[in-house]
Amino acid sequence: MLTLRNIKVWDTDEIIDLKVPADGTLFEDGARGADGSAVSGDVEIDATGLTLAPGFADPHVHFRDPGQTYKESMVSGCAAAASGGYTDVLIMPNTVPAMDGETIADPGAPGAREVLDAGYDSVIDYLQHYGAAHDVTLPVRYDLCVCASKGRAGREATDLEHWRRYMPGVDDGSKDTYQLAHPVTAISDDGSAVTPEILDDVFALAKASGLTLIEHCEHHDTGAVNEGPVSRELNVPGIPEDTELKVVARDIAKARETGVHVHFQHVSTAISFEAIRAAKAEGLPITCETAPHYLALSDEALLEYGTLAKMNPPLRSEADRKATVAAIADGTVDLLATDHAPHTMEEKALGFLEAPNGIIGLECAYGVCHSRLVDGGFISDKRLIELMSVEPMRLMGHEPTDVTALLDRETDASQEPDAKRVLDLSAVRDETADGIGLVVLDTAAEWTVDPERFHSKARNTPFGGWKVTGLPLATIIGRNLAFSRL
Ligand SMILES: [Zn+2]
Repeated sequence: MLTLRNIKVWDTDEIIDLKVPADGTLFEDGARGADGSAVSGDVEIDATGLTLAPGFADPHVHFRDPGQTYKESMVSGCAAAASGGYTDVLIMPNTVPAMDGETIADPGAPGAREVLDAGYDSVIDYLQHYGAAHDVTLPVRYDLCVCASKGRAGREATDLEHWRRYMPGVDDGSKDTYQLAHPVTAISDDGSAVTPEILDDVFALAKASGLTLIEHCEHHDTGAVNEGPVSRELNVPGIPEDTELKVVARDIAKARETGVHVHFQHVSTAISFEAIRAAKAEGLPITCETAPHYLALSDEALLEYGTLAKMNPPLRSEADRKATVAAIADGTVDLLATDHAPHTMEEKALGFLEAPNGIIGLECAYGVCHSRLVDGGFISDKRLIELMSVEPMRLMGHEPTDVTALLDRETDASQEPDAKRVLDLSAVRDETADGIGLVVLDTAAEWTVDPERFHSKARNTPFGGWKVTGLPLATIIGRNLAFSRL
């Protein structure tokens, strides 16, 4: 049993003791046992100054499984998530083949063999049963995001009848309980915006399913980096600033017309935030996220980090970066997501035109965001937890763990009224344990981002060597310590 004495509950500031059965710890990072071994037996830690919060949730990750597991896999991606303090992630559908709910027709297509050899005939089914098929226990929970278009090709909307049974709360008699663990909770063609030719069909699909449309709000046919002084200095074709706004404005109009909830991914420009602010003021069902790199970096970073600062949408101007921080501070931004996008360093070495877009983010997101937003004086520690835990969980249709409600329900009622409460996770009821996702945070820890220590297979991040403040120390799911660096 691991006992954390005097830990602070994130939203009420109540000081409690937390007991976690540590025998089932899935993996760790930096053991503290006297003999250097992992946490085992009874360990007590003075957790004064540490914070207990609902686990982080990221509704925007790419784990490249099936199809591109040389970049990342469900195993390495989930490990990266757990080590970053995340308990829940939403897997984007640009797997290979794409996660569109269709039965794989061509066994020779890229990635198809991985799915078929595991005994499944669709990517959704493969990911539903990943743990059992690969004989692994993944350390975080995950939901699935289904494609908006078949093959994610933008030509024909996906067929609701082909994936409806994977939605939460839909019972057609074919589901086992394992399938229910990884429901389809959103629709997206992430990697691309929904194409104009199927826009009406996709909004109809979102409406019929009741799911949120998660929109990659960026479309450009040419250009590799933000258009401006930096693109001219690098002599790389530029992407105009309004390529994001065009999709944002189009979808806001559609949301007004249909009532469908649209969530905009990785918003990066002042003009888009203006449009979203106005849509929210109008009461439209619009939410948005931004990513750590848009609040921490501008396109100037291309000069320092090269293609490690190449992403889509591109890093924009310093004025846009400041507008991003302002939109976080004033509540226009609903949540923070990483867009964790693993690529190999060989791929990233291809130069500005050829290198793939995107960076990994799960393992330093909290440190980067805490340093820039909380230490920078823009938001409070509590607000950062809302942006990284509470709001993303709700976007995925789940309730974040309410620590105080857990204490009220599960602590010993015979205790003295003024005594410090003890939350013993080994003793919580089964139905309660299922929903628990927690993170232990050291909000004051100063550390240096070292990509070589990441659990992700990938190293593509511009944040290597950054000194940041704020470190997740343990990730708890159910009664288990899923990850620990205590
Ligand atoms: Zn993405």
